[in-house]
Amino acid sequence: MTIPLFDTYPRLRGALPYIALGALPTPVERWTALEQEIGIGTLHVKCDNVSGLLYGGNKVRKLEFLLGRTVQEGVKTVLTFGAAGSNHALATALYARGLGVNCVSMLVPQANAPSVQRNLLFAHRQGAELHLYPGRKRVALATLMQFQRLKRQQGRFPQVIPPGGSSPTGCLGFVNAAFELRQQVEAGLLPEPGLIYVASGTMGTCIGLLLGLRACGLQSKVMATRVTSPPYTSAEKGRKLYQGTQTTLREADPTFPASSFPAEQFELRDEFLGEGYGLPTPGGAEAIAMAQQAGMKLEGTYTGKALAGLIADARAGKLREKNVLFWNTYNSRDFSAEIRHVDYHALPSGFHPYFETGAQ
Ligand SMILES: *Cc1c(COP(=O)(O)O)cnc(C)c1O
Repeated sequence: MTIPLFDTYPRLRGALPYIALGALPTPVERWTALEQEIGIGTLHVKCDNVSGLLYGGNKVRKLEFLLGRTVQEGVKTVLTFGAAGSNHALATALYARGLGVNCVSMLVPQANAPSVQRNLLFAHRQGAELHLYPGRKRVALATLMQFQRLKRQQGRFPQVIPPGGSSPTGCLGFVNAAFELRQQVEAGLLPEPGLIYVASGTMGTCIGLLLGLRACGLQSKVMATRVTSPPYTSAEKGRKLYQGTQTTLREADPTFPASSFPAEQFELRDEFLGEGYGLPTPGGAEAIAMAQQAGMKLEGTYTGKALAGLIADARAGKLREKNVLFWNTYNSRDFSAEIRHVDYHALPSGFHPYFETGAQ
């Protein structure tokens, strides 16, 4: 299997767990209408929305390494975490099932939205075992109990995949994404980006990219728009994840370059979160509408807020001379046919209110 990261560092192949799941490389498209409308040197979109044939978005890249490990270790069940409508929990359930691996999802409440309902139905349809707990403390306790139950039933503990898939192993997917981007720059598909705008939920995407950019020699600055509160996104977590991912790489191949956290190449943007995770903002809603005019489907939890940051910077005149890349992390594969006949009553009763009260 050849991927850009392994092409450059062949000793990583075989030393790191990996299984191809995605439809990579993802395309790069120029977005001239918005570029002209709000005054940007050049604006391109990295289309990770089509990163997988079944289901796209940014989680697929992480799962290539996370589930690569699952397969390598012969584990039959993964246990993961997220909010009720988590794209990560859905993607994990879906790609795990394709490998014959069960997925247990430990979920906590979030603001209702149509995408929450759709994701729950699809994950259920894909055979995921879904649990809803009132908060993080209860999840911690319940996780211990699930561990014991699975050990009893299957003779072995499940593999834990952290929220958002943002462990050092998951980050490798975005280290590889940076190498993929360099190939596309070299092929003339886009100029080297001065700035890359991306949402930060659990930081695996922005930190993996940052480390990959450093390692592959691209100078692009990562503009990470916070869409969650600490501990999911924080400067300290970013540094830890950077170091942890680098350690994973250098243990697998000591020639992989060592670098300290490049603070000058990374900016964490706090102004676009609004009232909190999953809660819409006016700037996000405007960004979604502008994207829709270009036929691009964004949402209010992640990508709308990330694009709102880009638009605000452009309007402030900061991007006139810049080559800008917007990283579209939101799945655009339509799975409505898959869930049309799924009855929500088949889900555990704790989830039913999502289907019985209005979504925002
Ligand atoms: C999970 C997710 C993100 C955030 O990625 P992190 O690696 O958790 O920071 C961004 N956009 C979408 C659509 C997501 O589902």
